[in-house]
Amino acid sequence: MKRRNFLNTLLGLIAGTVVSKKSYALDRRQWKMVTSWPKNFPGLGVGAENLANLITKLSNNRITVRVFGANEIVPPLEVFDFVSQGGAELGHSGAYYWKGKSPACQFFSSVPFGLTPQEMNAWLYYDDGIRLWEKLYSRFNLIPRPAGNTGVQMGGWFNKEINSINDLRGLKMRIPGLGGEVLAKAGGIPVTLPGAEIFTALQTGAIDATEWVGPYNDRAFGLYKVAKYYYYPGWHEPGPSIECIINKDAYQSLPEDLKVIVDTACKAVNIDMLADYTAKNNIALNFLKSTNIEIKKFPDDVLKTLREISDSILSDISSHDEITKEIYLSFTEFRDNINSWTEISNKSYLNIR
Ligand code: CA
Repeated sequence: MKRRNFLNTLLGLIAGTVVSKKSYALDRRQWKMVTSWPKNFPGLGVGAENLANLITKLSNNRITVRVFGANEIVPPLEVFDFVSQGGAELGHSGAYYWKGKSPACQFFSSVPFGLTPQEMNAWLYYDDGIRLWEKLYSRFNLIPRPAGNTGVQMGGWFNKEINSINDLRGLKMRIPGLGGEVLAKAGGIPVTLPGAEIFTALQTGAIDATEWVGPYNDRAFGLYKVAKYYYYPGWHEPGPSIECIINKDAYQSLPEDLKVIVDTACKAVNIDMLADYTAKNNIALNFLKSTNIEIKKFPDDVLKTLREISDSILSDISSHDEITKEIYLSFTEFRDNINSWTEISNKSYLNIR
Protein backbone atom coordinates (compact mmCIF):
# COMPACT_ATOMS: atom_id res chain seq x y z
CA MET A 1 0.00 0.00 0.00
CA LYS A 2 2.73 2.38 1.07
CA ARG A 3 4.80 1.37 -1.90
CA ARG A 4 1.93 1.96 -4.30
CA ASN A 5 1.40 5.43 -2.86
CA PHE A 6 5.08 6.15 -3.26
CA LEU A 7 5.00 4.98 -6.88
CA ASN A 8 1.92 7.06 -7.59
CA THR A 9 3.60 10.11 -6.09
CA LEU A 10 6.71 9.44 -8.13
CA LEU A 11 4.71 9.00 -11.33
CA GLY A 12 2.83 12.16 -10.53
CA LEU A 13 6.09 14.06 -10.06
CA ILE A 14 7.49 12.76 -13.33
CA ALA A 15 4.25 13.59 -15.13
CA GLY A 16 4.34 17.06 -13.58
CA THR A 17 7.88 17.60 -14.80
CA VAL A 18 6.89 16.49 -18.27
CA VAL A 19 3.89 18.84 -18.26
CA SER A 20 5.91 21.84 -17.12
CA LYS A 21 8.64 21.11 -19.66
CA LYS A 22 5.98 20.79 -22.30
CA SER A 23 4.35 24.13 -21.41
CA TYR A 24 7.80 25.77 -21.43
CA ALA A 25 8.38 24.40 -24.92
CA LEU A 26 4.91 25.59 -26.00
CA ASP A 27 5.77 29.09 -24.80
CA ARG A 28 8.40 29.34 -27.54
CA ARG A 29 7.16 30.59 -30.85
CA GLN A 30 8.84 30.63 -34.23
CA TRP A 31 7.32 33.44 -36.23
CA LYS A 32 7.71 34.46 -39.84
CA MET A 33 7.72 38.07 -41.06
CA VAL A 34 6.96 38.68 -44.73
CA THR A 35 7.78 42.10 -46.16
CA SER A 36 7.18 44.23 -49.25
CA TRP A 37 10.85 45.18 -49.55
CA PRO A 38 13.96 43.49 -50.89
CA LYS A 39 15.78 41.89 -47.95
CA ASN A 40 17.92 44.47 -46.10
CA PHE A 41 16.89 47.26 -48.53
CA PRO A 42 18.21 50.59 -47.10
CA GLY A 43 15.75 52.05 -44.58
CA LEU A 44 12.69 49.86 -45.17
CA GLY A 45 14.29 46.40 -45.27
CA VAL A 46 16.72 47.29 -42.50
CA GLY A 47 13.72 48.40 -40.41
CA ALA A 48 12.04 44.99 -40.85
CA GLU A 49 15.26 43.25 -39.82
CA ASN A 50 15.61 45.50 -36.75
CA LEU A 51 12.03 44.79 -35.72
CA ALA A 52 12.54 41.03 -35.96
CA ASN A 53 15.78 41.20 -33.96
CA LEU A 54 14.21 43.36 -31.27
CA ILE A 55 11.25 41.03 -30.75
CA THR A 56 13.57 38.02 -30.62
CA LYS A 57 16.01 39.61 -28.15
CA LEU A 58 13.50 41.41 -25.91
CA SER A 59 11.51 38.19 -25.55
CA ASN A 60 14.67 36.22 -24.77
CA ASN A 61 13.89 33.93 -27.74
CA ARG A 62 10.36 33.16 -26.60
CA ILE A 63 9.42 34.58 -30.01
CA THR A 64 12.05 34.09 -32.69
CA VAL A 65 11.26 36.03 -35.84
CA ARG A 66 12.66 35.17 -39.28
CA VAL A 67 12.36 37.84 -41.99
CA PHE A 68 11.52 37.08 -45.62
CA GLY A 69 12.15 39.73 -48.28
CA ALA A 70 9.79 40.47 -51.17
CA ASN A 71 9.10 37.35 -53.29
CA GLU A 72 10.91 34.98 -50.92
CA ILE A 73 7.56 33.51 -49.81
CA VAL A 74 5.01 35.91 -51.29
CA PRO A 75 5.13 38.83 -53.76
CA PRO A 76 5.41 42.29 -52.17
CA LEU A 77 1.74 43.13 -52.64
CA GLU A 78 0.39 39.89 -51.17
CA VAL A 79 1.77 40.46 -47.67
CA PHE A 80 -1.59 41.63 -46.33
CA ASP A 81 -3.58 38.54 -47.43
CA PHE A 82 -0.83 36.15 -46.39
CA VAL A 83 -0.66 37.47 -42.80
CA SER A 84 -4.43 37.82 -42.66
CA GLN A 85 -4.77 34.11 -43.46
CA GLY A 86 -2.06 33.09 -40.98
CA GLY A 87 0.62 32.10 -43.54
CA ALA A 88 2.96 34.32 -41.50
CA GLU A 89 2.41 35.90 -38.10
CA LEU A 90 3.92 39.28 -39.06
CA GLY A 91 4.10 41.54 -42.09
CA HIS A 92 6.10 44.73 -42.71
CA SER A 93 4.67 46.93 -45.43
CA GLY A 94 2.79 50.15 -46.23
CA ALA A 95 -0.96 50.54 -45.66
CA TYR A 96 -1.58 52.39 -48.95
CA TYR A 97 -0.83 49.21 -50.86
CA TRP A 98 -4.14 47.82 -49.54
CA LYS A 99 -6.45 50.48 -50.97
CA GLY A 100 -8.16 47.69 -52.92
CA LYS A 101 -9.30 46.23 -49.57
CA SER A 102 -10.54 49.63 -48.42
CA PRO A 103 -9.69 53.14 -49.64
CA ALA A 104 -9.45 54.07 -45.93
CA CYS A 105 -6.17 52.11 -45.65
CA GLN A 106 -4.37 55.01 -47.33
CA PHE A 107 -4.88 57.34 -44.37
CA PHE A 108 -2.62 55.07 -42.29
CA SER A 109 0.42 55.47 -44.55
CA SER A 110 0.22 58.86 -46.22
CA VAL A 111 -2.17 60.91 -48.30
CA PRO A 112 -1.36 63.97 -50.46
CA PHE A 113 -1.02 67.11 -48.34
CA GLY A 114 -1.50 64.95 -45.23
CA LEU A 115 0.44 64.80 -41.97
CA THR A 116 4.17 65.11 -41.29
CA PRO A 117 5.76 62.16 -39.41
CA GLN A 118 5.57 64.04 -36.09
CA GLU A 119 1.89 64.89 -36.64
CA MET A 120 1.16 61.38 -37.91
CA ASN A 121 2.51 59.82 -34.72
CA ALA A 122 0.44 62.28 -32.68
CA TRP A 123 -2.73 61.25 -34.54
CA LEU A 124 -1.90 57.53 -34.31
CA TYR A 125 -0.75 57.29 -30.68
CA TYR A 126 -2.59 60.11 -28.93
CA ASP A 127 -5.69 60.74 -31.01
CA ASP A 128 -7.99 58.21 -32.71
CA GLY A 129 -5.50 56.90 -35.30
CA ILE A 130 -4.56 53.47 -33.94
CA ARG A 131 -8.06 52.81 -32.58
CA LEU A 132 -9.59 53.42 -36.03
CA TRP A 133 -6.81 51.49 -37.76
CA GLU A 134 -7.48 48.47 -35.51
CA LYS A 135 -11.19 48.79 -36.24
CA LEU A 136 -10.53 48.84 -40.00
CA TYR A 137 -8.11 45.88 -39.94
CA SER A 138 -10.03 43.70 -37.46
CA ARG A 139 -12.31 42.48 -40.26
CA PHE A 140 -9.18 41.13 -41.94
CA ASN A 141 -8.03 39.33 -38.78
CA LEU A 142 -5.09 41.73 -38.42
CA ILE A 143 -3.69 44.03 -35.76
CA PRO A 144 -1.76 47.03 -37.14
CA ARG A 145 1.09 48.94 -35.50
CA PRO A 146 3.15 51.87 -36.83
CA ALA A 147 6.67 50.49 -37.43
CA GLY A 148 8.69 53.02 -39.38
CA ASN A 149 8.50 56.25 -41.34
CA THR A 150 10.52 57.49 -44.33
CA GLY A 151 10.04 61.17 -43.49
CA VAL A 152 8.85 63.76 -46.01
CA GLN A 153 9.58 62.41 -49.49
CA MET A 154 10.86 64.21 -52.58
CA GLY A 155 8.58 65.32 -55.43
CA GLY A 156 10.44 63.24 -57.96
CA TRP A 157 12.75 63.12 -60.98
CA PHE A 158 11.91 64.93 -64.22
CA ASN A 159 13.61 65.56 -67.55
CA LYS A 160 11.70 68.76 -68.23
CA GLU A 161 11.00 71.76 -66.07
CA ILE A 162 7.61 72.08 -64.41
CA ASN A 163 6.73 75.78 -64.67
CA SER A 164 2.96 75.51 -64.71
CA ILE A 165 0.26 72.90 -64.13
CA ASN A 166 0.05 72.51 -67.94
CA ASP A 167 3.55 70.98 -67.91
CA LEU A 168 2.01 67.96 -66.18
CA ARG A 169 -0.34 67.32 -69.11
CA GLY A 170 0.52 64.10 -70.89
CA LEU A 171 3.41 63.49 -68.50
CA LYS A 172 3.90 59.77 -67.96
CA MET A 173 5.06 59.49 -64.38
CA ARG A 174 5.64 56.58 -62.02
CA ILE A 175 3.60 57.70 -59.03
CA PRO A 176 1.39 55.17 -57.26
CA GLY A 177 -1.72 55.58 -55.12
CA LEU A 178 -3.56 58.81 -54.46
CA GLY A 179 -0.66 60.91 -55.76
CA GLY A 180 -1.20 59.17 -59.10
CA GLU A 181 -4.93 59.93 -59.01
CA VAL A 182 -4.14 63.60 -58.42
CA LEU A 183 -1.69 63.61 -61.35
CA ALA A 184 -4.33 62.02 -63.58
CA LYS A 185 -6.81 64.78 -62.72
CA ALA A 186 -4.12 67.33 -63.57
CA GLY A 187 -3.85 65.74 -67.04
CA GLY A 188 -0.86 63.45 -66.44
CA ILE A 189 -0.57 59.69 -66.90
CA PRO A 190 0.28 57.89 -63.65
CA VAL A 191 2.13 54.58 -63.86
CA THR A 192 2.68 52.06 -61.07
CA LEU A 193 6.01 50.23 -61.19
CA PRO A 194 7.88 48.32 -58.49
CA GLY A 195 11.03 50.12 -57.32
CA ALA A 196 13.44 47.79 -59.08
CA GLU A 197 12.04 48.65 -62.54
CA ILE A 198 12.11 52.45 -62.22
CA PHE A 199 15.67 53.13 -63.40
CA THR A 200 15.34 51.29 -66.73
CA ALA A 201 11.87 52.73 -67.40
CA LEU A 202 13.19 56.27 -67.00
CA GLN A 203 16.37 55.54 -68.94
CA THR A 204 14.54 54.09 -71.96
CA GLY A 205 11.89 56.80 -71.93
CA ALA A 206 9.09 54.35 -71.10
CA ILE A 207 8.23 56.95 -68.44
CA ASP A 208 8.97 60.71 -68.44
CA ALA A 209 9.27 61.13 -64.68
CA THR A 210 9.22 59.22 -61.42
CA GLU A 211 8.98 59.62 -57.71
CA TRP A 212 10.51 57.08 -55.36
CA VAL A 213 11.36 58.06 -51.78
CA GLY A 214 14.06 60.63 -51.05
CA PRO A 215 17.81 61.18 -51.55
CA TYR A 216 18.87 58.09 -49.49
CA ASN A 217 16.81 55.57 -51.50
CA ASP A 218 16.84 57.48 -54.81
CA ARG A 219 20.64 57.62 -54.85
CA ALA A 220 20.74 53.84 -54.28
CA PHE A 221 18.75 53.35 -57.50
CA GLY A 222 21.02 55.76 -59.43
CA LEU A 223 18.10 57.92 -60.60
CA TYR A 224 20.36 60.99 -60.81
CA LYS A 225 22.04 59.34 -63.82
CA VAL A 226 18.86 59.38 -65.91
CA ALA A 227 17.07 62.62 -64.92
CA LYS A 228 17.92 66.32 -65.02
CA TYR A 229 15.68 67.79 -62.36
CA TYR A 230 14.97 66.66 -58.80
CA TYR A 231 11.82 68.40 -57.57
CA TYR A 232 10.58 69.04 -54.03
CA PRO A 233 8.55 68.85 -51.85
CA GLY A 234 6.89 65.42 -51.89
CA TRP A 235 3.37 66.82 -51.68
CA HIS A 236 1.97 63.36 -52.38
CA GLU A 237 3.79 61.59 -49.51
CA PRO A 238 4.62 63.99 -46.69
CA GLY A 239 5.80 61.27 -44.31
CA PRO A 240 4.41 57.80 -44.89
CA SER A 241 4.04 55.52 -41.90
CA ILE A 242 5.30 52.00 -42.41
CA GLU A 243 3.18 49.30 -40.82
CA CYS A 244 3.73 46.08 -38.93
CA ILE A 245 0.69 43.85 -39.34
CA ILE A 246 0.19 41.05 -36.86
CA ASN A 247 -2.11 38.07 -37.39
CA LYS A 248 -4.82 38.60 -34.79
CA ASP A 249 -4.98 34.96 -33.62
CA ALA A 250 -1.19 34.90 -33.17
CA TYR A 251 -1.25 38.20 -31.25
CA GLN A 252 -4.13 37.14 -29.03
CA SER A 253 -2.41 33.87 -28.16
CA LEU A 254 0.44 35.84 -26.54
CA PRO A 255 0.72 36.35 -22.78
CA GLU A 256 0.49 39.99 -21.73
CA ASP A 257 4.26 40.56 -21.45
CA LEU A 258 4.91 39.32 -25.00
CA LYS A 259 2.16 41.57 -26.36
CA VAL A 260 3.91 44.52 -24.70
CA ILE A 261 7.24 43.39 -26.17
CA VAL A 262 5.82 43.23 -29.73
CA ASP A 263 4.13 46.64 -29.32
CA THR A 264 7.24 48.24 -27.84
CA ALA A 265 9.53 46.82 -30.54
CA CYS A 266 7.24 48.34 -33.19
CA LYS A 267 7.42 51.71 -31.42
CA ALA A 268 11.21 51.56 -31.20
CA VAL A 269 11.54 50.76 -34.92
CA ASN A 270 9.08 53.53 -35.76
CA ILE A 271 11.45 56.09 -34.23
CA ASP A 272 14.61 54.38 -35.42
CA MET A 273 13.68 54.27 -39.11
CA LEU A 274 12.82 57.97 -39.23
CA ALA A 275 16.18 58.82 -37.61
CA ASP A 276 17.95 56.54 -40.12
CA TYR A 277 16.24 58.23 -43.08
CA THR A 278 16.81 61.73 -41.74
CA ALA A 279 20.53 61.19 -41.22
CA LYS A 280 21.14 59.30 -44.48
CA ASN A 281 18.95 61.61 -46.62
CA ASN A 282 21.19 64.45 -45.60
CA ILE A 283 24.36 62.61 -46.64
CA ALA A 284 22.81 61.52 -49.95
CA LEU A 285 21.52 65.03 -50.66
CA ASN A 286 25.05 66.40 -50.33
CA PHE A 287 26.22 63.81 -52.82
CA LEU A 288 23.39 64.61 -55.26
CA LYS A 289 24.26 68.31 -55.09
CA SER A 290 27.74 67.41 -56.36
CA THR A 291 26.32 65.79 -59.53
CA ASN A 292 24.94 67.50 -62.65
CA ILE A 293 21.30 67.46 -61.58
CA GLU A 294 19.31 70.56 -60.65
CA ILE A 295 17.30 70.54 -57.43
CA LYS A 296 14.15 72.63 -57.83
CA LYS A 297 10.99 73.52 -55.93
CA PHE A 298 7.60 73.10 -57.61
CA PRO A 299 6.10 76.55 -58.35
CA ASP A 300 3.59 77.72 -55.71
CA ASP A 301 0.64 77.83 -58.12
CA VAL A 302 1.33 74.25 -59.24
CA LEU A 303 1.29 73.12 -55.60
CA LYS A 304 -1.87 75.11 -54.94
CA THR A 305 -3.70 73.38 -57.80
CA LEU A 306 -2.44 69.94 -56.72
CA ARG A 307 -3.67 70.72 -53.20
CA GLU A 308 -7.17 71.60 -54.45
CA ILE A 309 -7.37 68.42 -56.54
CA SER A 310 -6.12 66.35 -53.55
CA ASP A 311 -8.77 67.76 -51.24
CA SER A 312 -11.55 66.92 -53.66
CA ILE A 313 -10.24 63.37 -54.21
CA LEU A 314 -9.99 62.72 -50.44
CA SER A 315 -13.51 63.99 -49.94
CA ASP A 316 -14.76 61.71 -52.78
CA ILE A 317 -13.12 58.71 -51.10
CA SER A 318 -14.87 59.46 -47.83
CA SER A 319 -18.25 58.60 -49.33
CA HIS A 320 -17.09 55.01 -50.02
CA ASP A 321 -18.55 53.60 -46.78
CA GLU A 322 -19.20 54.37 -43.10
CA ILE A 323 -15.76 53.49 -41.75
CA THR A 324 -13.93 55.36 -44.51
CA LYS A 325 -15.99 58.43 -43.69
CA GLU A 326 -15.20 58.06 -39.96
CA ILE A 327 -11.45 57.77 -40.69
CA TYR A 328 -11.50 60.64 -43.21
CA LEU A 329 -13.24 62.93 -40.72
CA SER A 330 -10.88 62.03 -37.86
CA PHE A 331 -7.80 62.51 -40.09
CA THR A 332 -8.83 65.79 -41.72
CA GLU A 333 -10.12 67.28 -38.47
CA PHE A 334 -6.84 66.41 -36.77
CA ARG A 335 -4.83 67.85 -39.69
CA ASP A 336 -6.76 71.10 -39.72
CA ASN A 337 -6.50 71.50 -35.94
CA ILE A 338 -2.82 70.59 -35.64
CA ASN A 339 -2.06 73.15 -38.34
CA SER A 340 -2.55 76.03 -35.92
CA TRP A 341 0.05 74.54 -33.55
CA THR A 342 2.50 73.44 -36.26
CA GLU A 343 2.25 76.93 -37.80
CA ILE A 344 3.55 78.70 -34.68
CA SER A 345 5.93 75.92 -33.53
CA ASN A 346 7.87 73.87 -36.11
CA LYS A 347 7.02 75.93 -39.16
CA SER A 348 7.82 79.35 -37.67
CA TYR A 349 10.95 78.03 -35.98
CA LEU A 350 12.29 76.43 -39.19
CA ASN A 351 11.63 79.66 -41.04
CA ILE A 352 13.95 81.58 -38.71
CA ARG A 353 16.71 78.99 -38.33
CA1 CA B 1 7.12 57.41 -52.80
